[in-house]
Amino acid sequence: MKVCVGPLLKQALGDHIDLHVEESPVDPRGENAGLLDADITSFDADIKATHTDPGAYLEGGVRARVEQQCVRCLRPVRSPVDARLAEQYYATERVETGAPMPQPPRDAKTIGSDFLIDLTPLIREEVILATPQAPLCRADCKGLCPVCGEDLNERPHQHESPPDTRWSALETLKDMKD
Ligand SMILES: [Zn+2]
Ligand SMILES: [Zn+2]
Repeated sequence: MKVCVGPLLKQALGDHIDLHVEESPVDPRGENAGLLDADITSFDADIKATHTDPGAYLEGGVRARVEQQCVRCLRPVRSPVDARLAEQYYATERVETGAPMPQPPRDAKTIGSDFLIDLTPLIREEVILATPQAPLCRADCKGLCPVCGEDLNERPHQHESPPDTRWSALETLKDMKD
């Protein structure tokens, strides 16, 4: 989702605009489709864009819904993720005259001659950072049976272990410890 900061950069330094962007669900063929790669299925963001000396400073928050899989049982897990956004964008030319601006720092985010800022990658990056890395469907998820692959939450069970003397020796040790 792109926003034009051209009009903002014509205002006085320190002036700001408030942006509200949301999409639910994210359209796989829309301009925010890139969010789906990060399993973000909907988002709602409030962003304040301030005219600063090198360009525009964006800060705000985003609430996203991320669809993941439980690391134990592979069931879908929908996590609400809150992320903060803060990024300085450097104008590369003056909005009034088109004259070039001083060279921005290396790796800085820049504003092209169309004065558009694409919010999609900003939201994507910050939501990924704020997303849990090993989601669980619930804290005590029992996962899948390592023998038959069945969901142990739905059908708790154990298999008869084949007789193996080394293994039973270990089990005995474990029983002794318990
Ligand atoms: Zn689970
Ligand atoms: Zn089993």
